[in-house]
Amino acid sequence: MKKLFIVAIGVMGIVLTVGANRKKSDNVIKEVPFTQVHLSDGFWLPRMEINRTVSIPSAFRECEKNGRFDNFALAATRLGNAHYDVKEHQGDFSFDDTDPYKIIEGASYSLAVHYDQQLDHYLDSVINIIALAQEPDGYLTTCVTNKCYRLSGWWGCSKWEKINSHELYNSGHLIESAVAHYRATGKRNFLNVAIKNADLVCRTFGPGEKQIHRPGGHPIIEMALCKLYKVTGDKTYLEGAKYFVDETGRCSDGHAPSMYSQDHMPILQQQEIVGHAVRAGYLYSGVADVAALTGDTAYFHALERIWQNMSSKKLFITGGIGSRAQGEGFGPNYELNSHTAYCETCAAIANVYWNYRMFLATGEAKYMDVVERTLYNNVLSGVSLSGDKFFYDNPLESDGEHERQRWFGCACCPGNVTRFIASVPGYMYAFSERGKGNSPTVYVNLYVQGKAKIGNVELEQVTDYPWDGKIQIKVVKGSGKFAMKLRLPGWLKGSPIGNDLYTYLDKANNYSISVNGRQMYPDNHDYITIDRKWKKGDIVELNLPMDVRRIVANDNAEDLRGRVALERGPIVYCLEAGDQSCRSIFNMFLPFDKQREFKTNYRPELLSGVVVIETKAKMVRNDGNVVDVDMKAIPYAVWNNCGRQQMEVWIASTPVAIRQTPAITLASQAQTFSNRGPIQNDAPETAPTDSWAGGVNDQWEPRRSSDTSKPYHYWWLKRGTQESISYRWEQPKTIDNVQVYWLDFDHYDGNFRVPQSWRLYYETEDGQWREVEEHEPYTVRKDCYNSVSFKQVNTKALKIVARLQRGESGGVLEWKVNAPRQ
Ligand SMILES: [Zn+2]
Repeated sequence: MKKLFIVAIGVMGIVLTVGANRKKSDNVIKEVPFTQVHLSDGFWLPRMEINRTVSIPSAFRECEKNGRFDNFALAATRLGNAHYDVKEHQGDFSFDDTDPYKIIEGASYSLAVHYDQQLDHYLDSVINIIALAQEPDGYLTTCVTNKCYRLSGWWGCSKWEKINSHELYNSGHLIESAVAHYRATGKRNFLNVAIKNADLVCRTFGPGEKQIHRPGGHPIIEMALCKLYKVTGDKTYLEGAKYFVDETGRCSDGHAPSMYSQDHMPILQQQEIVGHAVRAGYLYSGVADVAALTGDTAYFHALERIWQNMSSKKLFITGGIGSRAQGEGFGPNYELNSHTAYCETCAAIANVYWNYRMFLATGEAKYMDVVERTLYNNVLSGVSLSGDKFFYDNPLESDGEHERQRWFGCACCPGNVTRFIASVPGYMYAFSERGKGNSPTVYVNLYVQGKAKIGNVELEQVTDYPWDGKIQIKVVKGSGKFAMKLRLPGWLKGSPIGNDLYTYLDKANNYSISVNGRQMYPDNHDYITIDRKWKKGDIVELNLPMDVRRIVANDNAEDLRGRVALERGPIVYCLEAGDQSCRSIFNMFLPFDKQREFKTNYRPELLSGVVVIETKAKMVRNDGNVVDVDMKAIPYAVWNNCGRQQMEVWIASTPVAIRQTPAITLASQAQTFSNRGPIQNDAPETAPTDSWAGGVNDQWEPRRSSDTSKPYHYWWLKRGTQESISYRWEQPKTIDNVQVYWLDFDHYDGNFRVPQSWRLYYETEDGQWREVEEHEPYTVRKDCYNSVSFKQVNTKALKIVARLQRGESGGVLEWKVNAPRQ
């Protein structure tokens, strides 16, 4: 048989010839790098162009504005390697160095497919400053070199002192970025910096007597060292990566176990996905790399177990992970609250990394189903159509309080989006030299128009996917016997991921497939396998039915009961209030009719071109009457590109699940603030400046004290301190009663409990805070409003001062304010 696959890894021309000896590695599935896939479609290519021309330059500008490069310049100056006029270390986080790393990585990917001399030179100048900031032993974390004690809480007083310092996270992103730059340009200037740093990391951490015994803290070093091993062939890096994986959960150096960073037990014992969602995704991606490179099946079984838990109990329909703002992470099983969903953009990217690696290890389509779902929905929601605004969290419902931002103090997401979008074509194809049927196998995992070089075969896809299901795949170069595997997407089946978390209500129509015009009737479930002798000019035509499908969630997901979501192809839809004839959405419902008619229409002028879904729905008016209304849905990924407004993915399907538009109340007219610093004394006069707070006057009625499905106010990481929340009005209000619904739920970083005690203060005309008089007892009952009447006051502001229970935190779900009854 002719040797079919000669695969260039990256664009560096490091050529691996596979297939000479039939070893275990013959059936390993390998990625087809994005540099060998050239898109010409109307969906991804424009987005990649915006990423290249808008997102990357604007992210670099933000780095310049926010002192990210100055921090390297300051370190270079302190080390005596250069003389820059920079006085102070800037930024609030020990991991701010990773922002430039991520954007250099994205810029490198973009250089690899679209050379730009100016960008190339810019990268060199930035890399030069980074290299000068490296200490002689290879160490590189600028806030430590700059001895920025303002950030001591992160890193302490010396190198490698704290597990959560993010020094290894900085190293990981440095390595990932440098490998990308080396592959894109062939230059070693950045790679040498990364190698020097990686050598230090591998010398410092490990099982040896004189080494530090500690896992990565915030993972990525595991993935990064595997990448460095692949590019250098130096086994030290693979051993280093394996060490960090093995060390996770052992707590050998005596540090406390932590669910937050998946360091609560060894990975081989883990069953459930917990903790910080980005850390989880990066850690398990690293474990998958190590398992694949070392042939370790035990790790792989653990990953499969954790994946089952994630995909069947904790995966949002948009492909997002991480339900909680607290700890930016996972909650209990089936906590899939739409409004308060965290679904960080970085976590979605991490989910793609992890699932793609799971696919490479097994060849199973279910992982690619998660990749596709996450890509088209949660990842894309993370960036505006204009390319210069980003979401950090991507909720599935909004009251209009969410809006994309140009940058964040903690700017992980913008940089991550820029590096990720540039690499998307790399997820489309894969191959193995000897698949199950013994033939070399080409996997076609994603359908996007463009050409791909896979060994000496070149394929061309012609399609308008994801708007149209017709896909034509042509062999434009090369011939020989191999199996082409076309993924049958999960969205064509009975449930999106093949489990009972989500189920389609409507049956899917059949797909069809033909080769050179001859119809095929394959019985494959996940992949359609066409194993034949191919020749130039052969054409496969796949026709996937693009019907609108309604989805319901597992009944255990309380927030999704009585609700339905709409999907068409891989695209999850949402409603925005501005698109509806009635200008509202929460009082609309879409009855479970057996036969429901949906009209779909491609609108090229709308939101950079989208298919819109229209149907007839019902609306409950505030007088209780139900009327017919038109309903229009747009892809979730493009929400909030027409300003702040109400949005929902999960639409009520019964009148019980709707929310009537609430009336204006005293509370709803108030602005909300909470204390920024600690309150030392009982009297709130001593409280330092307050900052804006929200969630307590949005008039979503709590179901119980642990109901975190709608916005609420919580005091984060507090332990028995005094905290406050206040209302402020423009004009004085006459008030004689308040009702407070206290928060109370468990969290691994610290529980939220009803307070030990509390008091209510009002602001007098001369700006003093005074406790209300003749008040009823301040009660702290759970699962109900705590009503307190008092002698009426006329005031512009009210303040609750709560003494939290010893060692516990707390918060307020809802706070009503009442005027005397007439
Ligand atoms: Zn992020």
